[in-house]
Amino acid sequence: MISKKKALEMIDVIADMFPDAECELRHDNAFELTIAVLLSAQCTDILVNKVTKSLFAKYKTPEDYLNVSDEELQSDIKSIGLYRNKAKNIKKLCQSLLDKFDGEIPQTHQELESLAGVGRKTANVVMSVAFNEPSLAVDTHVERVSKRLGINRWKDNVRQVEDRLCSVIPKERWNKSHHQVIFFGRYHCLARKPKCDICPLFNDCREGQKRYKASLKEA
Ligand code: SF4
Repeated sequence: MISKKKALEMIDVIADMFPDAECELRHDNAFELTIAVLLSAQCTDILVNKVTKSLFAKYKTPEDYLNVSDEELQSDIKSIGLYRNKAKNIKKLCQSLLDKFDGEIPQTHQELESLAGVGRKTANVVMSVAFNEPSLAVDTHVERVSKRLGINRWKDNVRQVEDRLCSVIPKERWNKSHHQVIFFGRYHCLARKPKCDICPLFNDCREGQKRYKASLKEA
């Protein structure tokens, strides 16, 4: 693993590349954001946004989701992967909001994670984006980038990636850095075709160097 100092320098480069990175899931409030993040598991933000455009016009409150049949909710989100399971979790989540939280999205990690379909990543996104509390959610992009750059070990689990990044990045930057690293992974260091040939981190990146050496052997 590289040093914390080197890791932060890399995060700074990423921040310079994507200064305006922000949450790309469309939402108007914490409730909509929670539903959108729940829907986004193993699915692109672009597709979620297509679905939530009409979904959020139809469903405004937890009661709205509970007042339709399972089949109707499934049909409204069926273009999204795992839609049956996600519809079930949305209904359970809405019921819990009404039973325990006066119909509002709670504002602590622990309470958020008690909701159906809400794991640590979703709770971190909601805390950060909806409530502006320092959090660093690790999704597939953040994990891939952090491991490729050597900020983390390949064998690290998601929680270890989060803890390492939180120890490298100053707390006041967690929220912004989260989006910047996601943008870097989504638009530059792509899973299948990372743009190593134009990457400002190429010289220090173990993955970029490995790919370069492999390409020389093939040539
Ligand atoms: Fe990603 Fe390639 Fe840049 Fe490394 S050199 S961070 S693998 S784009």
